Amino acid sequence: MHDSPDCCIVGGGPAGLMLGLLLARAGRSVTVLEKHADFLRDFRGDTIHPSTMEIMHELGLLDRFLKLPHQKVSQLFGQFGTRRIAFADFSHLPVHAPFIALMPQWDFLDFLADEARRYPGFKLHMRCEATDLIEEEGRIKGVRVVTSAGRGELRAGLTVAADGRQSLMRERAGLEVRNLGAPMDVLWFKLSRRPDDPVETLGRFEPGRIAVMLNRGAYWQCAFVIPKGGIEAIKSAGLRSFRATLATLLGLPGDRALDIRTWDDVKLLTVLVDRLASWCRHGLLCIGDAAHAMSPIGGVGVNLAVQDAVAAANILAAPMKDGPVSLAALRRVQKRREWPTKVTQRLQLLIQNNVIAPALTARQMSGPPLVLRMLAGWRFLRRRPARLVGMGVRPKHVALD
Ligand SMILES: Cc1cc2nc3c(=O)[nH]c(=O)nc-3n(C[C@H](O)[C@H](O)[C@H](O)COP(=O)(O)OP(=O)(O)OC[C@H]3O[C@@H](n4cnc5c(N)ncnc54)[C@H](O)[C@@H]3O)c2cc1C
Repeated sequence: MHDSPDCCIVGGGPAGLMLGLLLARAGRSVTVLEKHADFLRDFRGDTIHPSTMEIMHELGLLDRFLKLPHQKVSQLFGQFGTRRIAFADFSHLPVHAPFIALMPQWDFLDFLADEARRYPGFKLHMRCEATDLIEEEGRIKGVRVVTSAGRGELRAGLTVAADGRQSLMRERAGLEVRNLGAPMDVLWFKLSRRPDDPVETLGRFEPGRIAVMLNRGAYWQCAFVIPKGGIEAIKSAGLRSFRATLATLLGLPGDRALDIRTWDDVKLLTVLVDRLASWCRHGLLCIGDAAHAMSPIGGVGVNLAVQDAVAAANILAAPMKDGPVSLAALRRVQKRREWPTKVTQRLQLLIQNNVIAPALTARQMSGPPLVLRMLAGWRFLRRRPARLVGMGVRPKHVALD
């Protein structure tokens, strides 16, 4: 690779592509490296929240974005035994898209990449894996890569690690990771959906078992929550027993669970909640899951990654014009995003430890927690959780030129 852009971004996920788009839009030269050949990976975060769509609106992209196939979720429901209650209502949020859009992540990423390609400074190299950082005189000056053409390197004024929760770049940089723990893992799978099925996206709670069902039109995307490390016990009980559990828990006809033909149809999400102590070094910034892996509670991972990208572009695009940005500027990005991340993770840990963990060991149905019963009773109260989930903490706005 011969060019030497203002910024090299490792990872073409939501964080990397949104930052690439914003920097290119601001007139900077930016190269995004993605190790896969396409974005077609199943069971990635598919929830696009109102905060992300508000950013799309600010960029003038919302109408085009909403032309992509998606399902709208305006309310969230929980089912406790036979009792179904609504606990979050997005329809009153003061935004241009007051709902969650369920959309395959590859459509979202293709959309961001296509929009970014309209700017001359943007480059996206697929099948290009960063294998190490280039470090000279205590400063990160780019990355070493492997492509189908062989080994090479890409030098840049700033390197951004947006390479996800198993980030190799943060490891190579020697950045300290603080693991905050999680009592559960999640199994993801699809079941077909028929016209007379319920329409709501909902969480189902039964003694010792929790599932979430997302209405994806022709199919249900289901998440089955299991105790941490519990996958082997479930597999050794056998597929037949797993299907029988689903048949009673999900409230669908028993034959629907036959859609799961082998364990290959079930994907394990090992839940991690962690955060870097420092998100940067001279010449390097980590954002998105590379800086903080989120619990799946609230489906906020994609949206926090996008918020990090917006904060990074707002703070760094202008100084980048005059050459490599200072460590102080990189620290400002961390300062701006660390507090919302910490607050969100604290709330997730609170729910993990006080709702999910006890529910996974419960032997009898205790009904919805008090707070959910209150939300069910007073419609206006449901706007609160909707605001927290849909908009996040201190949502960012795109800096207009
Ligand atoms: C099973 C599952 C379900 C989820 N469900 C939800 C959900 O419903 N809602 C939600 O908001 N979040 C969800 N998440 C989390 C969400 O997917 C992440 O928080 C979000 O994608 C983070 O974005 P990112 O850009 O930081 O990282 P990622 O999306 O992980 O993107 C990182 C990219 O970097 C690439 N990469 C990695 N290493 C290299 C390298 N060395 N060189 C080049 N490229 C590299 C990867 O291929 C990947 O494309 C889910 C996650 C999983 C695993």
